[in-house]
Amino acid sequence: MTSMTLSQQLTALLGPKGWLSAPRDTAAFTRDWLNTYGVQPLGVARPQSSDETAALMHLCHAAHIPVVPQGGGTGLVGASVASSTNSVILSLSRLDQIDAINPRDFSAVVGAGVVLEQLHQALSPHRLMLPLHLGSQGSAQIGGLIAANAGGSHAFRFGTMQDLVLGLEVVLPNGDVWDGTRSLIKDNAGFQLRKLFCGSEGRLGVITRAVLKLYPAAQSQTSALLALPSLAALLQVGQQLRTHCAEFLTALEFFDAGILALALHHLPTLRWPLASQAPFYLLVELASSLPNFELEDVLQQALAQAVEAEHVSDAIVAQSTQQRTALWQVRETLPEGIRREGQQLKHDIAVPLSQFPSFLSACHAQVQHILPGTRIWTFGHLGDGNIHYNLSPPAGSTDFSQRDAELNQAIYTLAEACGGSFAAEHGIGRTKTAIADSLRSPVERTLMARIQRAIDPNNRMNPGVIV
Ligand SMILES: Cc1cc2nc3c(=O)[nH]c(=O)nc-3n(C[C@H](O)[C@H](O)[C@H](O)COP(=O)(O)OP(=O)(O)OC[C@H]3O[C@@H](n4cnc5c(N)ncnc54)[C@H](O)[C@@H]3O)c2cc1C
Repeated sequence: MTSMTLSQQLTALLGPKGWLSAPRDTAAFTRDWLNTYGVQPLGVARPQSSDETAALMHLCHAAHIPVVPQGGGTGLVGASVASSTNSVILSLSRLDQIDAINPRDFSAVVGAGVVLEQLHQALSPHRLMLPLHLGSQGSAQIGGLIAANAGGSHAFRFGTMQDLVLGLEVVLPNGDVWDGTRSLIKDNAGFQLRKLFCGSEGRLGVITRAVLKLYPAAQSQTSALLALPSLAALLQVGQQLRTHCAEFLTALEFFDAGILALALHHLPTLRWPLASQAPFYLLVELASSLPNFELEDVLQQALAQAVEAEHVSDAIVAQSTQQRTALWQVRETLPEGIRREGQQLKHDIAVPLSQFPSFLSACHAQVQHILPGTRIWTFGHLGDGNIHYNLSPPAGSTDFSQRDAELNQAIYTLAEACGGSFAAEHGIGRTKTAIADSLRSPVERTLMARIQRAIDPNNRMNPGVIV
């Protein structure tokens, strides 16, 4: 009875396009990107404004119905779909207005539903950029990127999403609206509330609008793909590039030969430009906001020593935008290659760079000890020590013979023991709450639970996520 009443109220508030409850209409919203989580909710609410969002949150609050905010649905920890049938998915995709681009303030005011790629395109004529780039940028939305505190390929140079957020508008669990849309870098008037919502995974409120920090757009750019004969060479070359290219270095993406082969196998239209093969590859990008800056010279000088020491076995420098796009396409489709291979265990690890070799060798040994033959794929963001350490079952098997939990625990424990993180950039979501409880101190976990309870005492925002 309650749910019928809420359904009618939401239809009256949002109209037939704003409240979807028939399974055929909600199907596109109910499962996560990895198709692991999600049940049929009461319905999907699609407000068109912050006011509508606040009104629907008031209604859900009064009806005691949990709400799950959803952006582009590309999150990898199962946090943007319902875990109970008695809940409402709140899709922000119709809050897709870019309200203002302010060149004088180096800021933009955007709705939570703006897709990242759409914002990149809109900023380009203004010679401005938001330096956030990731494989899902054609679907991921600003609200989801903030709520997940996304990282991506340029994070080591420009920071993660939280470093690009100047202000926020947030609808709280009871429907109250916090308007913190200030366009300021400096505003120390108390707790940094906006930071609280960065990485909150829909647990503390609904982000409806954001003020984002912009940079002058890159006007000179060069990208290169390097083949490297060993892990030691990969780390050595990464270190040299960071030292010699300094602030011009904007991306340092690595991947191993196995995951490349998998992507090329599952995505035959991918173009691979190198003839030779190597255990590791590095996609390097240099950029400057000055036009006609000779970045290729900077890169060549940085690599001269590495080439002489045979730390680079092959290389190609993109000669056109088309070639550059093709190089990035290979890197960005690696997750899709693994997805098409079938069952997988994903681990989003960060370790201090000095710990990279010992972490990887200990991890490989543990994995093979627990389930011999497990296939290991590594790729990630070398600049910030972020390794996507993904597993496929041994050849011929379709699953991990019920050793999943053991494998996860071993890998995450090793990461933490190296001074690293078991949740580098994808968050905790539903997949990692138990591991967070086991690996992080009770003080840290209790602090998070108290913050969550203070803002949402009835536990109605995305329950089951983070804490
Ligand atoms: C191919 C691929 C590559 C990826 N590469 C990267 C990468 O390099 N770096 C990286 O960090 N991530 C990466 N991701 C993960 C994902 O794209 C990011 O986490 C992204 O931030 C999710 O945005 P979304 O709009 O899809 O959010 P969703 O998946 O819809 O939601 C993510 C979380 O945010 C919450 N949320 C969504 N919108 C709001 C809102 N308006 N208010 C409050 N909470 C909200 C949801 O409840 C959920 O908890 C990748 C994913 C894929 C599929």
